[in-house]
Amino acid sequence: KVYESSGTVALDGVDLSINEGEFVFLVGPSGSGKTTIMKLITGEIHASSGSITVNDFDMMRIKRRKLPKMRRTLGVIFQDYRLIENMSVYDNVAFAMRVVGASGKEISRRVPYVLELVGLEGREKRLRVAIARALVNSPRMIVADEPTGNLDPVRSLELMLLFEKINEMGTTILVVTHEKELVNAFSKRVITIDGGHVISDGMDGYYSYEIE
Ligand code: ADP
Repeated sequence: KVYESSGTVALDGVDLSINEGEFVFLVGPSGSGKTTIMKLITGEIHASSGSITVNDFDMMRIKRRKLPKMRRTLGVIFQDYRLIENMSVYDNVAFAMRVVGASGKEISRRVPYVLELVGLEGREKRLRVAIARALVNSPRMIVADEPTGNLDPVRSLELMLLFEKINEMGTTILVVTHEKELVNAFSKRVITIDGGHVISDGMDGYYSYEIE
């Protein structure tokens, strides 16, 4: 993959295959090409050359109108979750302030405080919604780009255990993460990329040799 705008060679000579039912961690330093791989899989961007097949769809030839059909075979979880905001818990609570004439400033100060008070604060809840959304179409594969973002270690571990459960039911899982402890807490296949190249691929944990 070459990004035309900057001429950056983001991925070069990457040859990977992930089998149905696998659980794979994709790791590597910032800028190594992890998100590029995820976006190629979801069809958000196109490869400059080579070949990519995702759940039997040929991503080099797929027509734009066929993308929704392909995407139904994938559950995608992004770091920022990319949720639609207009149906949120937040808005329901904010509405109660709006109808009594509260200002935008008051609302944005008060609502997060109240949500936290009752244990519905942002990230956690949003993550659960994002996972439910990723699962709802019974995807063959879940791809998650840094899903543990700012979660604390216990929550991160819980999320991986949930992914493991989903994986045991037959769904292929591909997780991008920076978290070494998390990856090494599981005995899974770990693909390490650096500078757009695969530098290791195996069961021997995060960064089988030092790259940072
Ligand atoms: P990672 O997810 O591992 O941090 P990325 O896949 O985001 O890495 O980036 C790989 C390389 O491609 C980096 O050099 C980055 O600067 C570059 N890159 C990523 N997205 C774009 C883009 N939209 N336009 C130009 N260059 C990009």
